[in-house]
Amino acid sequence: MAKILCVLYDDPVDGYPSAYARDDLPHIDRYPGGQTLPTPKGVDFTPGQLLGSVSGELGLRSFLESQGHTLVVTSDKDREGSVFDQELVDADVVISQPFWPAYLTAERIARAPKLKLAITAGIGSDHVDLDAAIAHNITVAEVTYCNSISVAEHVAMMILSLVRNYLPSYETVLKGGWNIADCVSRSYDLEGMHVGTVAAGRIGLAVLRRLHPFDVHLHYTDRYRLPREVEEQLNLTFHESAAAMVPHCDVVTINAPLHPETEGMFNDTLIGTMKRGAYLINTARAKIADRDAVVRALESGQLAGYAGDVWFPQPAPADHPWRTMPHHGMTPHISGSSLSAQARYAAGTREILECWLDGTPIRDEYLIVDKGNLAGTGAHSYSVK
Ligand code: NDP
Repeated sequence: MAKILCVLYDDPVDGYPSAYARDDLPHIDRYPGGQTLPTPKGVDFTPGQLLGSVSGELGLRSFLESQGHTLVVTSDKDREGSVFDQELVDADVVISQPFWPAYLTAERIARAPKLKLAITAGIGSDHVDLDAAIAHNITVAEVTYCNSISVAEHVAMMILSLVRNYLPSYETVLKGGWNIADCVSRSYDLEGMHVGTVAAGRIGLAVLRRLHPFDVHLHYTDRYRLPREVEEQLNLTFHESAAAMVPHCDVVTINAPLHPETEGMFNDTLIGTMKRGAYLINTARAKIADRDAVVRALESGQLAGYAGDVWFPQPAPADHPWRTMPHHGMTPHISGSSLSAQARYAAGTREILECWLDGTPIRDEYLIVDKGNLAGTGAHSYSVK
């Protein structure tokens, strides 16, 4: 019988919800490109309910316990002697969400001799030391595509929020004010701007598709080029590298995984080559941008705005400089954890667990590391040291 250790974010401060703003979720048949949504044999939760917090348990408890497995769910992951650290020593499976990452460092992996499977209930497995997972023959799997569109919508929202100066204008209303000049003196139209994405994978391409109707000029860079018909349909300009692309852009959105090639990419040097007053949106991973370089660029005016939802570490400490830097539109890490996304990644997590417990193959597109190597999506999108 297996022990499954699941690290989830805390319940709402007022307690687990007893009612929701809407009655159901829209039905989606397939992801763009044709990949099927998760196909577990069953689910024990109501789509649209809060599944990503501790009491939601990703809807896994009755499924696992009915088969005699043990499920431990906690949000306590960072402090010395945390529940996560205590329970990890004899866990077979760890489940974690990027929004509240249980950092599976090489040291922790060394203290978890039974660990065979690390599931990311979401997308982005950089909270797992992939080199250590490879060395210890731990399978790493994530629910590819489960929240890619959720994030793309968030990116579109943040681009418009920054360019139109939405958040300060909303603040004006909250404070009882009406100074229109204050609101509009940093407000522009997106129309006609040059918008570029670093990476045009599932999220990056979805962002490009969503922005196309705004009559902007679209740019991208990626390790692999998109099909020619997609480039033509969206009138895309391809650049060989981020360095080649960003000087042309008014808005840059980062949609690449965090791995050795992308860590620290947006440093003083690269940001210094951007147009003065460009906007940078990062919903990928915080460490792709140099924390202090972003602050400096906002203070000097080199960047007109920075927005995103990814921080390091997570949760971000109260004195993290991104909370107070000028002209930012940061949120906690929420873009991929809408109730809609939760239903998909809870079902995908169950699908991965069912396969692993039954000894049947996990879908290739869900695999990041398997059998001591990068595998599946991981082999395509990640690199190791
Ligand atoms: P995909 O795997 O579909 O796309 C990632 C793309 O990044 C691939 O096209 C890959 O290229 C490209 N890439 C990798 N390295 C580089 C590089 N050095 N330069 C340019 N492009 C590069 O993933 P998704 O689009 O679904 O997700 C992307 C990332 O977004 C995730 O890894 C995660 O970190 C983040 N994310 C954030 C969420 C949130 O809630 N904020 C939720 C979900 C994801 P190729 O495969 O062509 O080699």
